[in-house]
This record gives sequence, C-alpha cells and structure tokens, in this order.
Amino acid sequence: AKGEDLLVVEDLCVNYGRIEAIRDVSFRVPRGNIATLIGANGAGKTTTLKTISGLRSVRAGRILFEGEDITKVPSHKLVQRGICQSPEGRGIFPGMTVEENLDMGAYTRTDRRSGAIRQDQERVYTLFPRLLERRTQSAGTMSGGEQQMLAIGRALMSRPKLLLLDEPSMGLAPKLIQQIFTIIREINAQGTTVLLVEQNAMQALRTADVAYVLETGQVVREGTGEELAADDSVKAAYLGGD
Ligand code: ATP
Repeated sequence: AKGEDLLVVEDLCVNYGRIEAIRDVSFRVPRGNIATLIGANGAGKTTTLKTISGLRSVRAGRILFEGEDITKVPSHKLVQRGICQSPEGRGIFPGMTVEENLDMGAYTRTDRRSGAIRQDQERVYTLFPRLLERRTQSAGTMSGGEQQMLAIGRALMSRPKLLLLDEPSMGLAPKLIQQIFTIIREINAQGTTVLLVEQNAMQALRTADVAYVLETGQVVREGTGEELAADDSVKAAYLGGD
C-alpha cells in the first residue's frame, strides 16, 4: 500500500578496507515517495546507493525491501525484485544504439512476449523525446545530457518499483537540470518510488518528499524536503546560504 516503507536501511556500515565509508546509516523510503540523500563530496552517498543495489557488501546492519531482508541478495536478483540503479557517470553501452541500450534494460524481464516491453519503450520515448529522435544513434556519440537520459530510460525498462538515481543532474546545463527533475517527478507520479542522491541540494530538496543529510558517513539530519530546504543549518552548509 502507498505510504508503507518500501525500503528500510538499518544501521548500515560499509568499509573500504579499514576506511569506514558509512557508519550506522539508517533511513526509510516510503512507497510512492521521492526520497533524497544529500551531502558533500565523500559523505557516503554513492556508497549507500551501491550497497542497496548489491554492488558493495555490508560490514554491519541490514536492508529491507518490501519487508524482506535483501542485505545479501546479489545485484541481478535485485533487478528482478524491482530495484534498479541508474549509475553516476551513466554506464550506458557506448557501442550500442539508443534502442539497443533500452532493450538491454529489459533483459531480466519475464513478460517478454506480452507487449509490455514495447509499451514501456513508448513510455520512455514519451518521457524523453530526444531519445526517440536518436534511437538509431550509437550511445557513445551522444551528449552527456542525452546519455544521462538514456541511463534513466534504460533503468526504467526493468520496470523498477524502486529507482535509484546517482547524481542525475551531474554535468548538465541548468536548463537540462530543470528538465531532469521534472522528469523524475513524472516518473514518480506514474508510480515508481525514487531514491535520489544529489549534490544539487536545493533542487533535490524541492523535489523530494523525504530527505536525509549525510555527513562523513552518517545521517545528521532528516525531514521533509520542504523542512530541510528551509532549515538554516542545511542552507548554510549545502545551499550556499540562499
Ligand atoms: P561524491 O559526491 O563525491 O560522489 P559520495 O557522498 O558519493 O561523494 P562516496 O563515493 O560514497 O561519497 O565515498 C564515501 C567515502 O568512501 C569517501 O571517503 C571515499 O573516499 C571512500 N571511498 C569510496 N570508494 C572507495 C574505494 N573504492 N576505495 C576506498 N575508499 C573509497
């Protein structure tokens, strides 16, 4: 049901060798919400997302998805269960066309013959008309912003219940940043829960229902996006004081 916690992260600790990247991180993502993790460089945002999507192993703590413990479930199984990450730095297949990249996103789906995949491809092209124009172009020759759109589109092709987005606005021109956040809201309005990691704190807080501030590997503040956007200490630290 809407409003229950889709994802629960409890006392998560992740190390790189002896370095503690995150320590006792706890937060929740209610079903149907957009949640955001904000924080400075090196705060542990990417590590947290990678751990949820099964790419890093946990030293302590646990991760629950739809009430089930997924702490040790490998990445490809998580995609089948409905968690998909659109990675920082895009991670698309540069030698493949736009359309082939989208097909790869649907790879783990079992409803292959139902026409649902075709329908979802139409949906991605509606969200990102630019991708439709360029569907036969090889992905590696597209602009940074277009590749970012493709990465999000490809993640959507797995029909995730939870979409993890790592810095979707990174390296984009201001106008495109606006557009990406509008699209994130649209994806959410169509029923996908979103966990968004961002350095662009103001935009992220404006977009998010719930927000968490990470500082040197720990959650130091939480609230609604609106609350944190209005909070003086958050403003001073992350929003350039405006
Ligand atoms: P950014 O916004 O700069 O991407 P972040 O909040 O995503 O930062 P992480 O990338 O999660 O931060 O890094 C958290 C900490 O873990 C940092 O101190 C970083 O140097 C360290 N770290 C990340 N990856 C590795 C790695 N592969 N080996 C060793 N330390 C790492």
